[in-house]
Amino acid sequence: MKKEYIIPIFVPHLGCPHKCTFCNQKEISGETKQVTAQDVKDTIEFYLKNFKDDSRYVEVAFFGGSFTGIDEKIQNELLEAANEYISAGKVGSIRISTRPDYINKDILKRLKHYNVKTIELGVQSSNDYILAKCQRGHTFDDVKKASFLIRWKGFTLGHQMMVGLPESTKLDEINTAKQLIKLKPKIVRIYPVLVIKDTELEREYKDGEYQPLTFEQAVERSKEVMQLFNKAKVEVIRLGLQNTEEISDPNSEQSQVVAGPFHPAFRQLVESSMWYDEIVAKIKKFNVKVMQVLITANPENINTIIGHKKENVKKLKEVYDVDVIIKPDESIKKGKFEIEIEKTYEDILEEEREKLKK
Ligand code: SF4
Repeated sequence: MKKEYIIPIFVPHLGCPHKCTFCNQKEISGETKQVTAQDVKDTIEFYLKNFKDDSRYVEVAFFGGSFTGIDEKIQNELLEAANEYISAGKVGSIRISTRPDYINKDILKRLKHYNVKTIELGVQSSNDYILAKCQRGHTFDDVKKASFLIRWKGFTLGHQMMVGLPESTKLDEINTAKQLIKLKPKIVRIYPVLVIKDTELEREYKDGEYQPLTFEQAVERSKEVMQLFNKAKVEVIRLGLQNTEEISDPNSEQSQVVAGPFHPAFRQLVESSMWYDEIVAKIKKFNVKVMQVLITANPENINTIIGHKKENVKKLKEVYDVDVIIKPDESIKKGKFEIEIEKTYEDILEEEREKLKK
């Protein structure tokens, strides 16, 4: 995929009359005040000055809240501010995120006028019971209608889904991924639920009504849905909330995370787990008792293959008694690897026999 720069502009909770039980927009975005057109220009200027590669495509992204739910006049001012940079050739396009029930033909016409290219919908789940349980205030039918309109009008469609919502099972999440794939998004974000301070979910958690996913559960569930998206060629552009001062380890002082599977490198953990599965599957196919393998992969994938704190290497030794040698090789395509047997159980026995003979 072509590399691009994103200029993120957080528009917190503006115009959103809902109170999803997991959401505290202020804490998630770290923003507390109304974003103005001047803020938009200052942010864009700041990022443009600091980008190192002038040739890359630049997109301004209005994240957070429900962009098309805020006062139309403010929306237009913010979009207009960003649009000046498109006219000047300094920015390529705009992306926004919003709720599915805040999309209609008129809204899309206006967004088109301001060069919005990508629209990300907060879906969270395809199960209406779960959506109601976390007080989303829309149904999956709204997602279907909005997704259809967005694609029909020529925008790039994005979806955001969560794993670990109250009463959501692994099956619900697999089903959500399958339902979303049918709606043909180009990109998707997957967020494991974290319990954030001053939310209804925090109350549920403290009253023992909600139990967040364990770390292992979050990795497993995210892996399942990520595999489905990968297979359907839907790009997973984010896995896990971005690490900020507020969204950080629950034990750190400024963290607004009360509980849940937070990890600053959550995506890497999930990807490492996927590599582990693939390596194990290949080792099993050898059909001999393998003691040592040589894995060759692109340098960019080496750390993920080794795993966080060498977890994959340790697990292969503990579970399968296999030693792994990992070799970087630029000629191997990213995401691919080659595996060869270095030693089998038979080789070890032979070595022992030779030693005895001496
Ligand atoms: S709709 Fe979005 S901004 Fe509004 S409460 Fe829900 S998650 Fe937060």
